[in-house]
Amino acid sequence: MGIQELNKEIRTNSFEKMKKRSLKQLTASWYQDDLLYSGVGKTISIILPTIGCSWALGDSGGCTMCSYISDSFLENVNADEVFELFVSEFEKHDLTENTGVKIFASGSFLNPIEVPTVARDKILKYLSKKNDVKELVVESRPEYIKKNVLKDIFACLGDKLFEVSVGLETSNDFTREEKINKGFSEEDFEKSMETIKSLKNSYNIKSKAYILVKPILTSESEAIEDAIETATYCERTGVDRISFTPTTIHKGTLVEQLWKRGSYQPPWIWSVVEIINETRKNLSIPSFMDTSGFGSRRGPYNCKKCNKILKNAIIESNIKQSLIEEVNCECKSHWIGDKKSSSLNYSKTRVKHLPLI
Ligand code: SF4
Ligand SMILES: [Zn+2]
Repeated sequence: MGIQELNKEIRTNSFEKMKKRSLKQLTASWYQDDLLYSGVGKTISIILPTIGCSWALGDSGGCTMCSYISDSFLENVNADEVFELFVSEFEKHDLTENTGVKIFASGSFLNPIEVPTVARDKILKYLSKKNDVKELVVESRPEYIKKNVLKDIFACLGDKLFEVSVGLETSNDFTREEKINKGFSEEDFEKSMETIKSLKNSYNIKSKAYILVKPILTSESEAIEDAIETATYCERTGVDRISFTPTTIHKGTLVEQLWKRGSYQPPWIWSVVEIINETRKNLSIPSFMDTSGFGSRRGPYNCKKCNKILKNAIIESNIKQSLIEEVNCECKSHWIGDKKSSSLNYSKTRVKHLPLI
């Protein structure tokens, strides 16, 4: 069975177990310190309910690590309702004079099937009138990044900064296709970056790439190398910022199936520290490390003594764009051992080291 068929089967099984949730239950928001293009500020992140990512709903079954589809409505969502839900979440938070907004559509904000154009434009016009909002960040697969769509967006948003984040995951086409099931090539990614670059003279547009740390069937050292190489590739391609997302085990994914069989573990936090330090030493574009799930059974993990210390250091370093200072802990020698292991015997060492649930 190929990766797409396997993925589709896992996805279909998880759909059957899903409990239907209301639009309100699927909407969420939070507010946090962040580094914006205009300096240190706050960001309001809002999860909007949609029908779900078209890539995951199709025959491919979606990407092997992603379960966003399980948090989607799976039916068309009325444009007015999307807008009202956006406003009610947005208004829960106080603005500072340097506020960013991130909209997570659990897929592609620029795909009109996922986010109806009417809802999109209403949100953009609403934000264009908020003086404290300095930038808007959305996510999209490369195939929806088109000049006419972006021009329509700026017609509603005005001259505010608009960043499109693309889940490139890796610069290695084989890994992206065979281990992540991403369904687009390096060439597709580069074309989308060219489209963004071609508009930079006329519009306040920026790009960001997400880099996945440790896809399946990848050893600890391969994961480190791949993430660092991908970051370098992004800078070379003209990406404005990068954000690393270390794998966490999401329900109903192929990654979860492998993890349950002891054939996969998320990366060590030590690996994440090495990636961020190497990237910041060598690149000039800003880089961020997502710390979701750090220190949990399903996320990047070191040991109980140092998980939190390193997580906090990484969060602080994201704001300052600084290097993470040397920390010593007994668990480091296990990590060094894992770095020397191949992907085949890797999981045994790691599983032994992890706490039992
Ligand atoms: S990672 Fe993005 S493209 Fe892949 S299934 Fe998830 S939402 Fe869709
Ligand atoms: Zn430790």
